[in-house]
Amino acid sequence: MAPLTLSSVRKRFGDTQVIHSVDIDVADGEFIVIVGPSGCGKSTLLRMVAGLEGVSDGEISIGGKRVNDAEPMERDIAMVFQNYALYPHMTVFDNMAYGLKIAKTPKPEIEARVAKAARLLQLEPYLKRRPRELSGGQRQRVAMGRAIVRRPSVFLFDEPLSNLDAKLRVQMRLEIKQLQRKLGVTSLYVTHDQVEAMTLADRMIVMNAGRAEQIGAPLEVYADPETEFVAGFIGSPP
Ligand code: ADP
Ligand code: MG
Repeated sequence: MAPLTLSSVRKRFGDTQVIHSVDIDVADGEFIVIVGPSGCGKSTLLRMVAGLEGVSDGEISIGGKRVNDAEPMERDIAMVFQNYALYPHMTVFDNMAYGLKIAKTPKPEIEARVAKAARLLQLEPYLKRRPRELSGGQRQRVAMGRAIVRRPSVFLFDEPLSNLDAKLRVQMRLEIKQLQRKLGVTSLYVTHDQVEAMTLADRMIVMNAGRAEQIGAPLEVYADPETEFVAGFIGSPP
């Protein structure tokens, strides 16, 4: 079963068509990056997959099961946001454990999973701290840890690095790449940064004004852009 499929998915806000019939088939273990300028509909698309926004038309399936009407918690996904969305009053441990507690995972299992993720993300020394006592990069790692502990079949990332400074962004990009290799996770990752897309993607989708203009391996898209928009966007500095 394909971990994630979008078939002819559209989204309207009132009279405005924001997403025009998008088709995406994510293979098992594949890292797909959606790249496009601000306002082209990347977050809206991801939010529909997460169940935070309804679908106007078309179908979204996770693990072969139609989820159009499923609540976010019923979907086998975890999302990492740009602004981390951590709970400021909770410790790093509690932030990472929160989703598992809601899902009524037994305590020893929660402790084992958080410990494992903390090791993977080098967060072990910080488990008792609160988010405000962490650097931006550490906060982003906590946000990733919170997703990892849930062991979803699909990870969704919405510009997770865009709040970090340039140097840290490059470092975190490499860390995500390593995590991806270690965990072999199926991911849909959204960014406006072409370099990030080229570095991380197995396949990338170049999006413009609510349409997927081209889907392909990064080098393929780079070497053989199918539209003028793709050529201009991929060729221009981030
Ligand atoms: P991106 O993430 O690529 O920057 P978004 O998905 O956030 O783009 O937005 C795509 C378009 O949809 C924008 O024109 C935005 O103004 C519009 N939009 C997003 N959310 C809403 C909403 N809740 N109501 C109305 N318009 C929205
Ligand atoms: Mg966005």
